[in-house]
Amino acid sequence: MSNHILHLLLNYRRVNMKKNDIFLLSGIILLIGIAFFLMQFFKSEGSRVLITIDGIEDKVFDLSEDAIYKIQHEDGHWNTLEIKDGNVSMIDASCPDKLCVKHRSIHYNNETITCLPNKVVLKIIGGEESELDAIAN
Ligand SMILES: [Zn+2]
Repeated sequence: MSNHILHLLLNYRRVNMKKNDIFLLSGIILLIGIAFFLMQFFKSEGSRVLITIDGIEDKVFDLSEDAIYKIQHEDGHWNTLEIKDGNVSMIDASCPDKLCVKHRSIHYNNETITCLPNKVVLKIIGGEESELDAIAN
């Protein structure tokens, strides 16, 4: 193999490597773009509160809309929850202990308010992780 051909081959490889670099770079930019798009997509989905009664899904509310919802149980008991400024709290309940009413409002993913006597669970879903959870993970 003459030096001339070797030189050409080396040059050819160098050009190809540059092309590969451009492909790699484009790929990375594309991946970042997709990741960013997905993040925006999930972000726009927003936080919701899932209401479970005796282990059965009752309703899902979007936290972006303020609302007051009264859960009327068949046995005459009730729970009233309020969604305000993205926070969920139990504002009234017929249970004797009123632990759910005393519970601070919830906002972060997987936070819950439970009313044991009435078997009601309010759970935040699809939202941002709390700082404590982030550290635990
Ligand atoms: Zn309660």
